[in-house]
Amino acid sequence: MRVMRKESTPKKEKSTIYTEAMETFHRAADLIGMHPRVRLELSEPDFEHIFYVTLDVRDRLVPLDEEDEERFKDLPASSVKAGEALEPLANGDFVLHRRALLAADITVREGVIRIPNRGLFVMVKGEPRKFKAYRIQHNQVRGPYKGGIRYHKDVSLDLFKTLAAEMTWKTAIADIPFGGAKGGIRIDPQAFSKEEMEHLTLRYMYKLRNMMGPFLDIPAPDVNTNAEIMAMMMRQFTDGQRMPHAFRGVVTGKDVRIGGSEGRLKATGQGVVFCIEEWARDNGFQLRGARVLVQGFGNVGSAAAEILAAMGCKIVAVNDANGTVHRDQGLDVPALVKYVHDNPENLKKTVAGFPGAAAISKSDFWQVDADILIPAALGGEIDGNVGEIVKVKLVAEGANGPTTPDGDRVLAGRKIDLIPDIIANAGGVTVSYYEWLQNQRMEHWTEQEVNSRLERAIKSNYALIRDIARDRPTKTMTHDSRRYCLGRTLDMRTAAMILALKRIEAHYLLEGFSQ
Ligand code: NAD
Repeated sequence: MRVMRKESTPKKEKSTIYTEAMETFHRAADLIGMHPRVRLELSEPDFEHIFYVTLDVRDRLVPLDEEDEERFKDLPASSVKAGEALEPLANGDFVLHRRALLAADITVREGVIRIPNRGLFVMVKGEPRKFKAYRIQHNQVRGPYKGGIRYHKDVSLDLFKTLAAEMTWKTAIADIPFGGAKGGIRIDPQAFSKEEMEHLTLRYMYKLRNMMGPFLDIPAPDVNTNAEIMAMMMRQFTDGQRMPHAFRGVVTGKDVRIGGSEGRLKATGQGVVFCIEEWARDNGFQLRGARVLVQGFGNVGSAAAEILAAMGCKIVAVNDANGTVHRDQGLDVPALVKYVHDNPENLKKTVAGFPGAAAISKSDFWQVDADILIPAALGGEIDGNVGEIVKVKLVAEGANGPTTPDGDRVLAGRKIDLIPDIIANAGGVTVSYYEWLQNQRMEHWTEQEVNSRLERAIKSNYALIRDIARDRPTKTMTHDSRRYCLGRTLDMRTAAMILALKRIEAHYLLEGFSQ
């Protein structure tokens, strides 16, 4: 009997952040005629680790709802040694350390307490909580998995898959011997204390220990993580090892005093600036006096702003998660950095409230007259609508995935140039590689050495991408694009992906597949 094969209409894949981000991959794979099996290998991650980390959350004081304040208006104030007992959190809550209550004179009614100069609070008993955690290992054909750790309330499997794949492309573009990964915890870090975040970090690394290592998977800082978090991860991983110093390269982005690299802190911002310099040279554009908008004033945004301001650019507006500041003559960037990053009062590390600048709305931010826009916050910020209203000549993507496919189309239609994230923000991972090398060799390079290597690396890879985009196969002392040009011109994002995929595909084609 003949078995009839049922005709099935191909299922249309639901559009997600991942499928949207992979549009560029598939477009570039088509253009180079990628081997179908290599395409399959690269179109999904090698491993998706999804797990939970638990934490004993401390007791809290949470501000009382305004409508309940009337009922407690006669509640006497309690005398608490605030310095020791109450630890302020960026979200307005306080962690309540019970030990300090021993010497306090307190009045509590229905769980409500009045703290002098701060108002009425509800006491909320601490309890264990669990948080969803991820580590997505996308690809390791070129070297150990490599990618940042993000702590944020809106992370998801889809997002980490996207960011992990992006690391695979980026490490290939930077031509460093790493693959791609990304991970983190779904949490709002502003609602937790330093000690709580430390416990979670240790627990996260504890659970992942067997999947991490200097030759296996190497985390780095990303949104809401920093050198301190990397130090905790390193300690957790190396504790108990017979030769702990041999494993320092298990994380990068460490403090320079414990095996970090000079120049790493500013490397991502510095890489963005090197790309902008190349764009300016290609276009005969004068950077001195150029007007710049920066979105996000964390590691990447503030470093890029500082370097550009020192080069004579005017940073005219900065937007972050809590507000926007604008000064048409240019903001005093060193003062803004101090206000945001060296200011214990500024728990949210925000630009909002910065004196000497006007507060404007986010939608006004996008429309400020400027030459260059550097998105250095989260993904998906420049969509079609934002693409329509920005008044810049160049978007240099400091953040990962800040422009949606719609945004791309609109910017291209308006002839606004774009330096895609996978080259623009590759400075961070490039110096992470230098850090890893220094760890392996037990060396410490100077900042000048790191920066001059970084400059050569970013500018030569940028030149390759520009040649692919313009279809100008060229060989110079520092780069040779003849292998990569396709005989047609392309947009910069597709050109960057072509460079990544050709470098990655070579491994599969030359090494073959293990069976
Ligand atoms: P960070 O945590 O130091 O700073 C993030 C900044 O973004 C903060 O100023 C925050 O206020 C702002 N922000 C958050 N949500 C926002 C919103 N909805 N609107 C406006 N601003 C918002 O993070 P970072 O390390 O500077 O990373 C920023 C971006 O750069 C991320 O996309 C990250 O993946 C990417 N990146 C970082 C590195 C690195 O070395 N740190 C390397 C490559 C790429």
